[in-house]
Amino acid sequence: MNTTIRKPIIAGNWKMNNTVKDSEILIKNLIPLTNNKNCDIIICVPFTNLETAINLTKDTDIKVGAQNCHFENSGAFTGEISPVMLSEMGVEYVIIGHSERRQYFLETDDTINKKIKSAISHDLKVILCIGESLEEREKEITENIVSKQLKLALSNIQEIDLKNIVIAYEPIWAIGTGKTATSKQANNVCKFIRSTILKLYSEVSADNILIQYGGSMNSANASELISEKDIDGGLIGGASLKVSDFSIIINAASTPM
Ligand code: PEP
Repeated sequence: MNTTIRKPIIAGNWKMNNTVKDSEILIKNLIPLTNNKNCDIIICVPFTNLETAINLTKDTDIKVGAQNCHFENSGAFTGEISPVMLSEMGVEYVIIGHSERRQYFLETDDTINKKIKSAISHDLKVILCIGESLEEREKEITENIVSKQLKLALSNIQEIDLKNIVIAYEPIWAIGTGKTATSKQANNVCKFIRSTILKLYSEVSADNILIQYGGSMNSANASELISEKDIDGGLIGGASLKVSDFSIIINAASTPM
């Protein structure tokens, strides 16, 4: 567990999984396992499940997030959802820049930057995903890639707004592949991200910003990853769909109260 005051954050990214009925069952089973934990717990569900998730988690320790949003408030953007729509319905978090959105929906660093600005201006908290491909890691340019993504994503974002941004370091080669970065590999990049925040902003911001690891985190490896100094929790895909696995990860991040 890190020795600073940062409270770990465990976020489930359900991706395009679970109907409304499935989500009701999962959330009802998850709630009793999340009481009095010393970490923040978020579930990022498909748009169609947001209302159900918000209603079921009222008065619980689970917060609800979306997995994407547009940067405009409204308009002719068929199929899109705006931050103002999310915020009005009580959504607290939104994932922005997930590698699947970058890869399959051609999101760019520029649109990611616009989305972040728009989301925080509507009181949403952002989970910003950055990370390198396998090819980039093998070329030993992980730090260049991650720092470029971070600088562009945070371009013209004021230091005061960093309190509403969580960074998820997600090496693309580890997402949904069962290949996890070793805890040292993951911590080294999270530490580098923190040092980049120090250069871009200040020591206080670098010390306070939450940096999660994501990429095949599961019930068996979560404890080791989260115990690293610069890793403040996880963004979890596959393992967040199984209540028992997700609750083990939550327990791994939760220090005794
Ligand atoms: C993710 O979707 O952000 C993710 C990390 O997925 P998985 O845990 O399945 O690798």
